[in-house]
Amino acid sequence: MSDVSTSELVLRADPQDVPWDLTVDVVVAGSGAAGWAAAIGAALGGASVLVLEKESAIGGTTAKAGGGADEIASTWLWICNHPWLASIGVHDPKDDALRYLARLARPERYHPDSPSLGLPEREFELLETFYDRGTEAVAALDQCGALPLRPLEQTLDYFADLPENVTPRGRGLYFPRADGSEGTGADIIESMRAAAVELGVQVRTSSPVRGVVIDEDGSAVGVSTGDRASRMMLVRARGGIVMATGGFTRDPDLVRSHLRGPIVGGLASEGNDGDLVRISGALGLDLANMNEAWYAPMVLDLSPYPLSAAFRLPGDSMILVNRYGRRVVNEKTTYNEMTRAFFSWDPARAEYPNLPLVMIYDSSVSERCRAMPEDAPVTEGGGNPLPRIPGEGHELVADTWGELAVAIDARLAEYESVLPGVRLAPEFVTNLSETLQRWTRMSELGIDQDFARGGTSTERRRSGAPRTPDMPNPTMHPFAETGPYYAVVLVPGTLDTKGGPRIDSSARLLASDGAPVPGLYGAGNAIASPAGQAYWAGGTTLGLAVTFGWIAGVDAAARGKAQ
Ligand SMILES: Cc1cc2nc3c(=O)[nH]c(=O)nc-3n(C[C@H](O)[C@H](O)[C@H](O)COP(=O)(O)OP(=O)(O)OC[C@H]3O[C@@H](n4cnc5c(N)ncnc54)[C@H](O)[C@@H]3O)c2cc1C
Repeated sequence: MSDVSTSELVLRADPQDVPWDLTVDVVVAGSGAAGWAAAIGAALGGASVLVLEKESAIGGTTAKAGGGADEIASTWLWICNHPWLASIGVHDPKDDALRYLARLARPERYHPDSPSLGLPEREFELLETFYDRGTEAVAALDQCGALPLRPLEQTLDYFADLPENVTPRGRGLYFPRADGSEGTGADIIESMRAAAVELGVQVRTSSPVRGVVIDEDGSAVGVSTGDRASRMMLVRARGGIVMATGGFTRDPDLVRSHLRGPIVGGLASEGNDGDLVRISGALGLDLANMNEAWYAPMVLDLSPYPLSAAFRLPGDSMILVNRYGRRVVNEKTTYNEMTRAFFSWDPARAEYPNLPLVMIYDSSVSERCRAMPEDAPVTEGGGNPLPRIPGEGHELVADTWGELAVAIDARLAEYESVLPGVRLAPEFVTNLSETLQRWTRMSELGIDQDFARGGTSTERRRSGAPRTPDMPNPTMHPFAETGPYYAVVLVPGTLDTKGGPRIDSSARLLASDGAPVPGLYGAGNAIASPAGQAYWAGGTTLGLAVTFGWIAGVDAAARGKAQ
């Protein structure tokens, strides 16, 4: 084995010939929520576990998650039929839940009368697994003290009003801190880490998994790890290897090649640059869902990494316009759905007319809807794009619409390197004036005839502080007749991506013939997400990460025992 280069993505060798530095039952690559769920699942199954983390600190994107969409300072998990639902009087039957999951995962294929609801069988099976085993995962993690959880009784799903959603509230979960307040991703990581270490799990930081060792039968039997500058280590995994390495947001080439639209950057952790995509390519695995991400509008001024998400656009006298001064999207829809508006392509002009979008608002919104001290500030990945102090940082202020347009255009010129050649159209101010007149008429009527803003209960809950007298539609109000007026320039970004190798219902990675690679598992944003294009509710990403991480860890431990 002396002639084998340990920097290769795939090492094919007889395990007897490999000079292993260490042997454990289960190796977990990545120390986000998916990785810790796998490690704890495996350790509870009696396995010896080693977590290898590429970065110098643990936690990945999970540790940065400081905000659900409505509760900016907290981090949620979303699990169908979770163990606490009955205590809040909610029932979540499987058939109904699957209709909601499938309807949004593959909207173009959804068919309520088909046995698999129109989805390819293997995708449908993963949704069933999420329903069946998500509850098992969170119950076990809660019970062992790794991830105490409580239900968010009143929180609505992102598509609470879809006819397919008969359980629109209660599936969200939060991590309660000692004082009862809702915890962040960092709290979740610390709790899971502590429990894992208690169970004997070993952790090494600054230890990227570089490659996978495959034996003559095609089973994954170990990994190479270490900094190229120092000596590589070879670690044997008797039961399995769980790749929980996050998505590929931090590799701009992969982002450009795979995502649907012109993504400017994202919030994912620095180590999330697609190692599993490259390893999968070398192994001949089937990649899927590569065009999807957990999308969010981001503040241009903080691009490209780490960006800052505008999880919700507060206020009623507030709209988003493109560089032609036209509204193009419902400003109260969820961040993931709103981001798709940036991707619109104008074939006549051969350009992306909605790149960027500019959020504009008046002094009433400025006074009522600023980030509160308890909100995470926008520079820390928080959700409200209005800085706490008017005119601070990325917020533009001017007395007239004409002056605001000049300021926006100057800001675009400043960010030429992020958005090359993108400036406001000469007709911006004229069009904006028409847009505002129409907005006034629709606000007075209470109906957004263009994008149905405020048409769902989720949107009405996200509309920010109300004002009196009430308007017929609380999410809409005419703009003040005089300035000052405000603007924040937004661009498309990701929390992280959600494409990668396919898994089966045991979280095993699948080769292109559909057969699992024995001993090789994946979970979290590293894999082709069972969600497809869906973002069902706040907490979807962590719900999936924890469920499939848990499944992978449990299965790998059992496999190790059976060897
Ligand atoms: C501000 C913010 C708020 C959010 N709020 C929520 C929320 O409320 N609810 C929710 O569900 N989601 C939320 N998210 C999204 C959520 O944080 C992520 O989707 C989730 O944490 C991903 O978990 P993961 O375990 O798959 O990946 P990560 O947590 O990103 O972990 C992956 C880890 O793998 C490491 N790694 C990469 N390559 C290798 C390698 N080769 N070897 C070893 N290690 C490697 C990385 O360094 C990283 O530490 C939020 C995100 C942000 C940024």
